[in-house]
Amino acid sequence: MTDLQFEHDLKAAIRTIPNYPKPGIMFRDITTLLGNARAFRRTVDELVQPWAGGKIDKVAGIEARGFILGGAVAHQVSAGFVPIRKKGKLPHQTVRMAYALEYGTDEMEIHADAIGKGERVVLVDDLIATGGTAEGAVKLLRQIGAEVLAACFIIDLPELGGADALRKLGVPVRTLVSFEGH
Ligand code: AMP
Repeated sequence: MTDLQFEHDLKAAIRTIPNYPKPGIMFRDITTLLGNARAFRRTVDELVQPWAGGKIDKVAGIEARGFILGGAVAHQVSAGFVPIRKKGKLPHQTVRMAYALEYGTDEMEIHADAIGKGERVVLVDDLIATGGTAEGAVKLLRQIGAEVLAACFIIDLPELGGADALRKLGVPVRTLVSFEGH
């Protein structure tokens, strides 16, 4: 875990929008954090801190907020960046994976040649809730041969159990702040 002052500052930099996009959801808006130079920089440093001393070949980011964070993290640790996108967006040959949403399923894709066999990959997104999105991404990465070193998120919603579900898949999980509820 990170120190209390940092966790406090980070929480203060994240804006909460009640009942967005629908009633009952507390939307954790990281655009305020991204716009705060100090908070953004510290977040990028902290996200992969436990793995930063080792070799990271690629950082994979989940569309769309995972692109902003993942790109910055990749630069910071001198790794390549790989996008995981909603289906139909990537131009070359892809591998596709269904993943669970609150209601129903959707599909995400990665370029089939984005990662070489055995490459060491860290997955990055802004928030983990039920873990459905991140689980799909881990399965996709493993399917194309990645060694998934860790999954890193700014925000955990622990009541929804996503971080635990990922750990059960054998993926170390790092989160920087937790919020109660959905
Ligand atoms: P899940 O698959 O349930 O873990 O949901 C994670 C994805 O949904 C992430 O890409 C988040 O950006 C988004 N998400 C889920 N819940 C929230 C929330 N309360 N506030 C902001 N984003 C959320």
